[in-house]
Amino acid sequence: MARLVVLGGAESGVGAAVLGKVKGYDVFLSDKGQIREDYLKTLREWDIPFEQGGHSEDLILNADEVVKSPGIPGTVPIVQKIRSKGIKVESEIEFASRYDSARKICITGSNGKTTTTSLIYYLLQNAGLNVGLGGNIGKSYAYQVATEHFDYYVLEISSFQLDDIYDFHPDIAIITNITPDHLDRYDHKLENYVAAKFNITRNLGPDDCFIFDSDDAITVGHLSSIVLRCKMLPFTQEKEVDEGAFVRGDRMVLRYDKQETDIFLEELALGGRHNVYNSMAAALAAKVTGIDNEIIRSSLSTFQSIEHRMEPVLSIRDVLYINDSKATNVDSAWYALESQKRPVVWIVGGTDKGNDYSVLFDLVRAKVKGIVCLGVDNAKIHEAFGSMVPVMEDALSAEEAVKKASKMADAGDVVLLSPCCASFDLFKNYEDRGAQFKAAVRNL
Ligand code: ADP
Repeated sequence: MARLVVLGGAESGVGAAVLGKVKGYDVFLSDKGQIREDYLKTLREWDIPFEQGGHSEDLILNADEVVKSPGIPGTVPIVQKIRSKGIKVESEIEFASRYDSARKICITGSNGKTTTTSLIYYLLQNAGLNVGLGGNIGKSYAYQVATEHFDYYVLEISSFQLDDIYDFHPDIAIITNITPDHLDRYDHKLENYVAAKFNITRNLGPDDCFIFDSDDAITVGHLSSIVLRCKMLPFTQEKEVDEGAFVRGDRMVLRYDKQETDIFLEELALGGRHNVYNSMAAALAAKVTGIDNEIIRSSLSTFQSIEHRMEPVLSIRDVLYINDSKATNVDSAWYALESQKRPVVWIVGGTDKGNDYSVLFDLVRAKVKGIVCLGVDNAKIHEAFGSMVPVMEDALSAEEAVKKASKMADAGDVVLLSPCCASFDLFKNYEDRGAQFKAAVRNL
């Protein structure tokens, strides 16, 4: 019996362990920290031996292969020891795809992954296909391969999940866009991060498709330095393309296989320029999958917005409150501000990840009438925007922030939580921050 050791006992690690068990491996899972109760329960149910609170080398270095969870950096000592013994280290999606023959649509990028993935899943479901949703959203891919049978998968994939792949092969790969994020895991080198994202394309062949944002300078720059043998489908809001998606006047146009179809931008369910990109990427994936134009049109116009992403919460005395708590970097906040047509009271702040706020200056000058800083240390935000807006206040809870923002807002304004920062200084995570924001709005 081949021995499979899984490092990390969360969603992807436990999923890989279950799949290993189903496929007849002698499985062992090891986690340096504490494993969450629900995952412990799964491990016990499947009768999978495990340890937590440390790694026992004698139980690990006898592996035939190792699946490493994406949360564990490749530089930690145990991984280095495993590699130095010549044991193969792979990611969960690599391991799972070995046992899966479904068609795979895989989405990576810096922003818009969850939105685009959810849209594509919705499109395929509306077309009546037998489709699973996974990866970074919901249940891990490996767990589903172990326990379900789908003809299609739509998988959201983070760059960490792409780190140790060899033969993993999407039928359609999408990079939504690339902006600097998580550079700490890539030696602070942008090219390493870009290369990690592009790992999604490494096994694409002539029958496969690559869908990408041709307005994105980083993506296009990298494409000019590599050779892809697959079909290339760009999406753009800047010019017409021979094949792909683009904007003509008030419509989004899809041009594929010598046919053209279009949809009014007004009809797209998701508002904002960034969601035009997401809708174009999703529509192209649907076209390639052979889905009817009618289904594509109706799906793009009926999709419901996702929680914590530009989610309208309530309108109170004609002030609209929007929860964009998932905007944890400058680029996503840029799109949130850019898409506002009304004066904005902006709630921003949290754990700064080395942000450069200067790209936001023009938008803030043009649209923002007041700022509430929601963070423990707001010095950088004061320094960046203090001279640009008439009022600026600090808050240490969602409730305080909402109260202060509501005082700054007049009828016709928007109060936008789009924090640009991680949430860990004051909240458990971005979902907690968004939920507390919504509760505070409802209590006003
Ligand atoms: P991800 O899964 O990549 O983090 P989400 O779809 O969850 O992306 O969106 C994260 C944040 O980025 C939200 O604030 C959202 O409004 C914003 N956003 C969504 N799509 C894009 C895009 N194409 N470009 C820039 N920002 C985006």
